[in-house]
Amino acid sequence: MTSTPTPVVELRDVTKSYEGDVHALRGVSLTVREGELLAIVGPSGSGKSTALNVIGTLDRPTSGTVHVAGYDVNTLSDARLSTLRARHIGFVFQHFHLAPGRDAVDNVADGLLYAGVPLGERRARARAALERVRLGHRLSHRPDQLSGGEKQRVAIARALVGEPALLLADEPTGALDTASGEMVMDLLHDLNRTGTTICVITHDNDIAESLPRRIRFRDGEITADSRSRKVS
Ligand code: ADP
Repeated sequence: MTSTPTPVVELRDVTKSYEGDVHALRGVSLTVREGELLAIVGPSGSGKSTALNVIGTLDRPTSGTVHVAGYDVNTLSDARLSTLRARHIGFVFQHFHLAPGRDAVDNVADGLLYAGVPLGERRARARAALERVRLGHRLSHRPDQLSGGEKQRVAIARALVGEPALLLADEPTGALDTASGEMVMDLLHDLNRTGTTICVITHDNDIAESLPRRIRFRDGEITADSRSRKVS
């Protein structure tokens, strides 16, 4: 018998409003379980970034509850929230956000800066993470010596080096050509097969359709939550 995997993220009736009567999220409930690979998909202005910020604990909801890695975000101070984020969530951004003057190993090692790991071990784990994203041959390259796809793989290694409960990827192929984008998506599939829980935020329907679960946003609400049948 298999048990239901643990929830990594649970949003219940989450709203997020801004001044001027802007309702970016209007009662969003969703559960992401360990081992899932899903897309949050929708057109511009549908609330995806707001959902990403709430799930990533970068922003607090106006109302409703948010649990990440078992913690109730509403009950945590900003300092505890930063710790939760550093330990349990890995972020990947459209434009990579790598430090320009630092090589791949040091960029990835920075992903462990707040985990209290000594420098030597940070670098060793960074090298292992770069091998995992198939960049073992680019360890001493700086971002300006890497292609876009390689930069994104360094960013993914940085997000993964601390073994987070959740990888949040915000338009991870948005700045890449088609071939590099496909390579990055293949990598996300590989990482998911070895157990990483991954949530991809995208406006691109083709990318969403390539993932096993799609949560569709429109005007701050979830309009569909669909899963593909497993192909064996
Ligand atoms: P998406 O990522 O799908 O493009 P967003 O989450 O960025 O959508 O935006 C959802 C809605 O909330 C939009 O109408 C947007 O203008 C508004 N919004 C987002 N962030 C803010 C903010 N900081 N202040 C005011 N309005 C915002």
